[in-house]
Amino acid sequence: MQLVTSIPAWKQVRLGLGGAVGLVPTMGALHAGHVALVRRCRAENDVTVVWIFVNPKQFGPSEDFARYPRDLARDMRLLETEGVDYILSPTVEEVYPEAFQTTVNVEGLTRPLEGAVRPGHFQGVTTIVAKMFCLTQPRRAYFGQKDAQQSLVVQRLVFDLGMLTEVVVCPTVREADGLAMSSRNVYLDAEERAFAPTLYRALQAAERAIAAGERDADALRERMRREFSGRPGVSVDYVSIADVQTLQELATVDRPALLSLAVRVGRTRLIDNIPMTPPGAGR
Ligand code: AMP
Repeated sequence: MQLVTSIPAWKQVRLGLGGAVGLVPTMGALHAGHVALVRRCRAENDVTVVWIFVNPKQFGPSEDFARYPRDLARDMRLLETEGVDYILSPTVEEVYPEAFQTTVNVEGLTRPLEGAVRPGHFQGVTTIVAKMFCLTQPRRAYFGQKDAQQSLVVQRLVFDLGMLTEVVVCPTVREADGLAMSSRNVYLDAEERAFAPTLYRALQAAERAIAAGERDADALRERMRREFSGRPGVSVDYVSIADVQTLQELATVDRPALLSLAVRVGRTRLIDNIPMTPPGAGR
C-alpha cells in the first residue's frame, strides 16, 4: 500500500496505472461502513484507491470542520490489512490553492433535506467529487446509502456531465442496536449514544406502518417526529417521506420512497434513512 499526499506525485502514479481503478471517497476516521465499501471495491476492480480528505468546502461556518476526527495513522493500518493499493490524502492547500476558482453545482436535487439545512454543503461535495474523479479517473466509485441524498446527487453529476465512472451505492452498515455507523458517533456521550438508535427505530416504525397499509405521509411524518419530542437537547432538523428518485415530499406513499431524518442529539447531528417500496407500488 502506498500513501500519496502530493497531487503532482499522484498524477504520475495514475498515469502509470492500468486496469480498472476503483475509488472509495472518505473523510477518514474509518469504521466498518467504510470497510464494507473498500471490500466491495477490491472485489470488483484491479486497483483500489481510498481517498481521505476532510473537505472544508462541504462544512458550514458553524459546523464541525475543526473538531472532525482525524487519525491517518490508524486509518492506514486498517486499510493496509484490507489490501488497499493506494491512499490518496492531499492537504487542503494542495486541493484548494489560493488561485482556486472553480465550483461544480447540481441544482434541484441539492435543494431539499440536507441542502435546505446545510446551505453550500452539496456544492462543496460536488466540487470535490468532480476534482477527485478527474484525478483518479475511476472505473467505479463506491458511496454509502447512509448518505442517500449525496449518492443521488453524485449519480446526477456523473450522468449530467457524461463521466464514465459507475457510481455504486452500498447498504448502510449499522451497530448491533441499529445506529448507523458514522465517524461523528464518537462525539456522543453515554446518554446520547443510548438515545441515538431512536432514529433507526423511528424509521423502522414508519416502514412497518407503510407495509401495513398506511399511505398518509403527513401522519407518518408526525409519528416519526413524536419519537423525538420532549427530549431535552434533542431537536429534529427534518423528517421526510419523499420520492426516492426526485426527493420531492409525498402526500401519499404510493411509489418507492425514501424515509429519512436528521436529528441533533446534543452537539451531534445524526442522519439516517430507509428506502422502501410500498406493497403494490413497484416502479
Ligand atoms: P464519510 O467519510 O462519512 O464522508 O463517508 C464516506 C463514504 O462512506 C460515503 O459514501 C458514506 O455514505 C459512506 N458511509 C458512511 N457511513 C456509512 C455506513 N454506516 N454504511 C455504509 N456506508 C457509509
